[in-house]
Amino acid sequence: MQTASDAFGFAFDNSYARDLEGFYVPWQGANAPAPQVLRLNTALARELGLNPDALQTTEGAKALTGAQAPQGATPLAMAYAGHQFGGFSPQLGDGRALLLGEVIDHEGQRRDIHLKGSGRTPFSRGGDGKAVLGPVLREYLMGEAMHALHIPTTRALAACTTGEAVLRDARLAQGAVLARVAASHLRVGTFQFFAARGEIDELRRLMDYTIARHHPDLADTPNRALHLLRRTLARQSELIAQWMGVGFVHGVMNTDNMALSGETIDYGPCAFMDQYDPATVFSSIDRNGRYAYANQPGIARWNLARLAETLLPFLSEDDDAAIHAATAEIDAFTERYEADWLAVMRAKLGLTTAEEGDFALAHGLLKAMEGQGADFTNSFRSLADVALGDTSALRAQFTNPEDAMDWQEGWLARLARDPVVPEARATAMNCVNPLYIPRNHLVEAALGAANSGDMAPFDQLLSVLATPFTQRAGMEAFARPAPESFTNFRTFCGT
Ligand code: AMP
Ligand code: MG
Repeated sequence: MQTASDAFGFAFDNSYARDLEGFYVPWQGANAPAPQVLRLNTALARELGLNPDALQTTEGAKALTGAQAPQGATPLAMAYAGHQFGGFSPQLGDGRALLLGEVIDHEGQRRDIHLKGSGRTPFSRGGDGKAVLGPVLREYLMGEAMHALHIPTTRALAACTTGEAVLRDARLAQGAVLARVAASHLRVGTFQFFAARGEIDELRRLMDYTIARHHPDLADTPNRALHLLRRTLARQSELIAQWMGVGFVHGVMNTDNMALSGETIDYGPCAFMDQYDPATVFSSIDRNGRYAYANQPGIARWNLARLAETLLPFLSEDDDAAIHAATAEIDAFTERYEADWLAVMRAKLGLTTAEEGDFALAHGLLKAMEGQGADFTNSFRSLADVALGDTSALRAQFTNPEDAMDWQEGWLARLARDPVVPEARATAMNCVNPLYIPRNHLVEAALGAANSGDMAPFDQLLSVLATPFTQRAGMEAFARPAPESFTNFRTFCGT
């Protein structure tokens, strides 16, 4: 039941509001004193059938900050729970966000339009309901970078300023709202919210809604709960394997930040690693390294076990049988993840065939890089040149290049058994090993300048990250590792 579109082009069809009454609170965004669209993702706006010119007006800014809901919107704050750093909060919910509504994009896909920083809601607890410019632009940049890397992610539609000063860390910052687009905002924590309250009928509605939205082919399958669990495990496994392949550290893999759609969601203290170190942690609040780079697959499995628990009532009428079925699915995650990771690594290593020893070969490179100061991104990127006979760029990554040479010998021997001509292999490798990632020092510089009113560095970085695999003349600085001063870089949660 799509509403007619307004001047902005929103043709809302709000299934969450319609089908899931009781799962949210209808709510309005806060008034913004002087809303302005700072950046609009015009390509994405067009994909959604929106009119970029209309959105870039003051009226558009009111719509994109939540100050004035556009025609057909049914803004609402969603209820969800979540395990945060292992501890369960039975009620989190959208404390500073609103689902404005859903639209159907040009490919027929349903997409949520969601506002972050739109004011207090009944779920705000002690929070002010606001967001500020730095973190909003950070999520914009990181999400768009991930999208360009072909990794499933929510995307930024717009970054708006509200004209309001917001207190953060005893300082005033510019209030801002991120309008983002997602395949849905169904979280592991959404299921946990109802499971914790023992609301089985609500859980069943949620499960059916999730299946209708993300796996419509499962609607009439016997044992659909089991299939939903299996599919969700598969999507997360693929997602985390892709994160690992680009050195991405999410930083706050709480169950409320894990989406059933399989998209990366809620960019807070996330960052890309420079030097390879499996223990890499960026978030200042992650003191025990729970969400360190190498822990991500294990944490994903743990989160998915929490999802499985919520589905137990639907897996079998017999409690033991339900637990048995759920456990078998969760146990299978490790093997599934290893296969997904190996597929990512095979592509990164330029392999088109499979051999028993490939897992050890991929691990061997990582082991060789460890403690050598090797830049994760640039080491992998250099492999295409090695495949063409130039070993200098790989050697340059290592404090002790001989360690790289031992591994390289084994890899080249393996390539000799893989039937691809070197040029084609190098081209394929350069399509999966990025040259440009959002390096921390560049992101910080861009956000610092934006806070002072200079958007040029942000725009340039965004533009370079839009084509991360294509070398561009004059952009050498964007491919360089961070200076020494960034060795112990920390990110802050960005509320
Ligand atoms: P996050 O760390 O952004 O995933 O948020 C975790 C929870 O805290 C969610 O329920 C958010 O809605 C809530 N939250 C984060 N920041 C704020 C804020 N400034 N005001 C109100 N709620 C917030
Ligand atoms: Mg969150």
